[in-house]
Amino acid sequence: MRHFILVVFCWAGLVTHSWADAPSGRVPLAELYVHTSAEYRALCHQAYNTAGNRFRQWAPLLEKREDGRAYLPGSEKPVAIILDLDETVISNSGFQAFMATSGAEYSYQLWDAWVDFQAINKAAGAAVPGAVDFLKAVEELGVTPIFISNRRVGQEEGTIKTMERLGIDVENIEQRLFLKPSHQLLEEQNRARIKKEGLDPGSLSARQLLEGEGEKEARRRMMQDKYDVVAYFGDIYGDFEPFLEMAESSKELYQQRREAAEQHHLNWGSVWFILPNPMYGSWSVENAVPKNGIDSALNDYGFSVYLRGRRAPKK
Ligand SMILES: [Mg+2]
Repeated sequence: MRHFILVVFCWAGLVTHSWADAPSGRVPLAELYVHTSAEYRALCHQAYNTAGNRFRQWAPLLEKREDGRAYLPGSEKPVAIILDLDETVISNSGFQAFMATSGAEYSYQLWDAWVDFQAINKAAGAAVPGAVDFLKAVEELGVTPIFISNRRVGQEEGTIKTMERLGIDVENIEQRLFLKPSHQLLEEQNRARIKKEGLDPGSLSARQLLEGEGEKEARRRMMQDKYDVVAYFGDIYGDFEPFLEMAESSKELYQQRREAAEQHHLNWGSVWFILPNPMYGSWSVENAVPKNGIDSALNDYGFSVYLRGRRAPKK
């Protein structure tokens, strides 16, 4: 049997690449989890079911006015929710699977190709479980879904095609989809926002616009001007607030981010709904964990020392 398995593996290796060809040779657990596990799907449904239950609680408070939109009592601004796209509404586990098995490095060109492929390939352009039904349910209440994504402006056409094919309402999408502008335009947007709000450039609020994790804060504030935003959806901490690293802190970035998540613990599952993404993000190596700091981040709390003592022969 073992020989048979070996033969099948060798043959498979001739016709296609495999995880074993990846430079590290490590089993890509994170990609397998998202791509294949029941548990990943369960977590996504759990997030969207929790959000759906919140909206069922809020529904009696919402006034659906003549324009078909929901409003909070006494407010002139329609009610909206803000969602990220990738790994929040659209799943890209096929792209991550490709990178894990081929060993290819991420590049804009590769990501562009994936966005185009996803627009024409049904399996590649899958929705995050629970997302589409949730969006339909809130739209029936008159709530406006707004999408703030760091896909780039040039990827708009492929993105809208994929959304449409997934059954997401794309009516007036140009007023509800905000992709990441060029670096220069983003800088101009942030500066204009600082001026509009009359902020001191050194203030926390201005720094959140300029340096906040996710670079989405200017787009979020622009939407908060127009709408009462009642819930946020994302897979990365920066989808919820513009986290700022404190350079003077003795703590590593990943420790600071964990503390921020704890500070806002009441928001999770209440007004902030997070989807699982163990494949990539601001939390990962070289983003939040320095490459030469992995050993200290993976602290075993002294277990290896304890084990050595346990194995030492007793005198
Ligand atoms: Mg995302």
